[in-house]
Amino acid sequence: MSFADNLNSIRERMAAACARAGREENSVTLLAVSKSHPPETIRAAVEAGQIFFGENKVQEAKAKIPLSPSKARWQFIGHLQSNKVRDAVELFEMIQGVDSLAIAREISKRAEQAGKTMPILLEVNVAGEGSKFGYAPEKLLAELSELNALPRIEIHGLMAIPPFMPAAEKVRPYFQKLSGLKLECEQLLGAPLPQLSMGMSGDFEIAIEEGATIVRVGTALFGERQKIIRAAAAD
Ligand SMILES: *Cc1c(COP(=O)(O)O)cnc(C)c1O
Repeated sequence: MSFADNLNSIRERMAAACARAGREENSVTLLAVSKSHPPETIRAAVEAGQIFFGENKVQEAKAKIPLSPSKARWQFIGHLQSNKVRDAVELFEMIQGVDSLAIAREISKRAEQAGKTMPILLEVNVAGEGSKFGYAPEKLLAELSELNALPRIEIHGLMAIPPFMPAAEKVRPYFQKLSGLKLECEQLLGAPLPQLSMGMSGDFEIAIEEGATIVRVGTALFGERQKIIRAAAAD
């Protein structure tokens, strides 16, 4: 299957999920997660009509973005360390995955130096997994007004990476939890939050049914990443 075939099939499945949920097709953005894939792959993807790309490592993105078509638009989707914030603010038009006041303050400071305002999504650890980054829901609600007061960030919504479940339907309660938390945040802020970033290759349709406005899809678009190479090398 070519990238274009994969893209068409994902777009059809997204449209069907929107129809099931009574949502407009254009209410969901497909973020192509291009981590580990080279600029040639990005070029082919842009030629096939894909515009939004997600990267989870600043160094990798810094090397890749200048070599990719300028039509491509980039969002950061990983865990950000404070010494990478300056580059991230320059490279990306949105930073998903902000999970502390400290990092939010650093983003605001660097955005001010760069003369911009940075759209961000706050990451929530929806299943309370010890191994994962993200705000505990109570902590997010407690810090929300302080986050919102930072001058050079704009909170556009929430994102989460729920536990991987072979049966995708089992992830639905976590999507519902994130969706409910967004409502609580909106009430606290007294303003709507436009974005809910949830759903990956295995579960994006369920995420759309539960309100996702950004789905982050890697493998189902580009094929397997290095996992496979590593598995082969281990044989
Ligand atoms: C890698 C990654 C994805 C894409 O995962 P796939 O299962 O390949 O679709 C989505 N979100 C984040 C934060 C990721 O790091």
